[in-house]
Amino acid sequence: MKINRVSAQWLRYPIPVEGQHTSDFGTQRTFDMTLIRIETDEGLTGYGEAKAAVGSSGACASIAACVEHEIGPMLIGQDPREVGRAWELAYNGSRGELAIKHGRSMPALGRRGLTICAISGVDMALWDILGKSLEVPVVQLLGGACRPSLPAYASGGWADADNIGAQLQSYVDEGFDAVKMRVGAMDGSVAASIDRVKAARRGIGDQVDLMCDAHGTMSPSEAKRFCRGVEDCSLRWFEEPCSSDDDAGTAEVRRSTATPIALGESLFTRFEVRDAIERRSMDVVQPDAAIIGGITECRRIAALCETYQLELAPHLWGSALSFMAGLHVGFASPACRILEYSLGANPMLHELVSDLPKPSAGWFASPNAPGLGVTVNESFVSEYAAKQQS
Ligand SMILES: [Mg+2]
Repeated sequence: MKINRVSAQWLRYPIPVEGQHTSDFGTQRTFDMTLIRIETDEGLTGYGEAKAAVGSSGACASIAACVEHEIGPMLIGQDPREVGRAWELAYNGSRGELAIKHGRSMPALGRRGLTICAISGVDMALWDILGKSLEVPVVQLLGGACRPSLPAYASGGWADADNIGAQLQSYVDEGFDAVKMRVGAMDGSVAASIDRVKAARRGIGDQVDLMCDAHGTMSPSEAKRFCRGVEDCSLRWFEEPCSSDDDAGTAEVRRSTATPIALGESLFTRFEVRDAIERRSMDVVQPDAAIIGGITECRRIAALCETYQLELAPHLWGSALSFMAGLHVGFASPACRILEYSLGANPMLHELVSDLPKPSAGWFASPNAPGLGVTVNESFVSEYAAKQQS
C-alpha cells in the first residue's frame, strides 16, 4: 500500500452568539480546525487533526500549508502502515533515513511548534489507515483496552461567582462525577479566582471531583496564593498554573502545594514531557494528540507516565478526530483514569463525524470501530471549508 495524496483543509464554524463563551483566549466566536486527509493507492483514506491553537479558534493557514507542502511530499509513495517510520521521516527531514540508520533523532529545525502539530495530524491519519487496513480499532493496535469503560469529566466552567455553581451543577445533572472550571487571568485577580472556586465547591457539594484550569496565565506567586486559598476545596488537579515558558515556575508551585498539578496540552514531543518530568513540575500529564506529535508520540508519553507513576489524562478539547485519538491512547494505558469531555459549543466534536461515541451517565465504553472509529461527514466539511474561504 502506498500514500497517494496528503491534503489539509482549514474548517471554520461560526458559533451562534448564545453558544459563545469567554475566557483569557477571548470570546470564542468560531471553532476552527485543520482536517488532514491521507489517500492511498488501495482506496483507503485516513483522517487526522492538526491544531494551530490549544483553544478552538485560530488561523490554520500556516499549518495547512505545512502539511500540504512540507510534510506531505516527504511521505508520498511510502507505505502508510509503517507509521513509526513515517514519523521519523517527517521529524528528521532530509536526515530521516540517516536518523533511522543511527537510531537517534536528527531533527529538522521545526522540531517544536506548528511543524509538530502538522506531523501530529498526519500521524493520526496514518494510524486511522493502519486500523482500517486491519479492521481493528487503534486501541487494539496499542495493546488493547486496560478497562472496559472510563469516566469522563465535564470540561467548561466559565461563569462568574454567582453562577458557577449552577453551571457546574448542570454538568453533574448530565451524569458527570467530575467537572472542570476555568480560572486565572480572566478573573482579574487571584482573590476573584478563589471566590469562584469556593462558590463552585459550595454549588456542587463535596462528592463531585473539581478541577481548575488557569491556561498558564498565573505567575508562580499568584498560583501559590491560589493553591493556598483553595486548599479546603479539595481540587482533583490544578491545570497549567503558569506559562508554558516557565516550567521551573510551575515546578516551584507544585513543590508548594499538595494539590496535584496537571499540564501537557502546550508541550511538544516526548522530549519536552521528559524535561517536565525531570523538573518534577506535574502529577498529571495531558498530551494532545493533535499537538504533541500524534498517536505515536502520545503512546510514548503514556509509557513515560506508566514508568514515572504519573496520571495520564489526554487533552481532548478539539474535533472528533483528536478526541478519538486521545480516547484510544487513554484506554490503552493503565495510567489513564479519566477522560476530558467538552461542554462548550463544539460543532467539530459533534457534527464533523456522524458516529461519535457518547458518554453514558458520564462514562465512555472502549472504542471498537476500525481505525479512529469515526466517519467524517463530507458535506459538513465542504460547507465549513467554503465558509472559511469566503
Ligand atoms: Mg487545559
